[in-house]
Amino acid sequence: MAVSAPRSYVGEARRRVAPKRERIGGIIARLTAEHQDAIIALRFRDPIELLVSVMLSAQTTDVTVNRVTERLFRKYRRPEDYLAVPLKELEADIRPTGTFRQKARNLRGTMRMLLEEYDGAVPERLEDLVRLPGVGRKTANVVAAERGATQGIVVDTHVRRLSQRLGLTREQDPAKIERDLMRLVPRAKWARFPHLLIWHGRRVCDARRPRCEECVLRDLCPSSRV
Ligand code: SF4
Repeated sequence: MAVSAPRSYVGEARRRVAPKRERIGGIIARLTAEHQDAIIALRFRDPIELLVSVMLSAQTTDVTVNRVTERLFRKYRRPEDYLAVPLKELEADIRPTGTFRQKARNLRGTMRMLLEEYDGAVPERLEDLVRLPGVGRKTANVVAAERGATQGIVVDTHVRRLSQRLGLTREQDPAKIERDLMRLVPRAKWARFPHLLIWHGRRVCDARRPRCEECVLRDLCPSSRV
């Protein structure tokens, strides 16, 4: 007699919802209504400040970055300013954001490249942004999207977790998750979509204790516990 394989919780639950292409419109619409205030939490006034803020935000909170940059941006206004002080001084100025030695080196390398190759301006194309030291695809996507030059979808820890829980991807690797999302999410929503998932992840779909009972997506989510 054949013994059926044990069915995973998610695999079993997935059968209760429609295919992702049929759900994505509803997911976006409900999250848009739910999180109208979902915007980037970093504070910046120009593309250089945007780039620096996003680079500093790795492995720390936006609140910490904003606290540091409030002073930082009064002292460092142009790319040249980051190269005009000793490395130790820059390290001290960004220290609360963590991994400050590496971040300081990357900031200086980035500012040098901006001056040498981009006339001191932040480029808009993703392939140029990812050439900058310490700038990966996630940072590049955030910077491009905030400047209205969206070319991909930001995948951070919240976007990754929610995309998996919502059954929008089976991938683990951020680049592959982004590829899946780019095929699924309408291009006009590429900039907005990650903000919606990030805020929903912070407010409702917590990493350890998702509050499915109060989630507007519970009937569209294969991982819902209610
Ligand atoms: S139903 Fe639960 S697991 Fe699904 S998105 Fe909402 S909070 Fe997260």
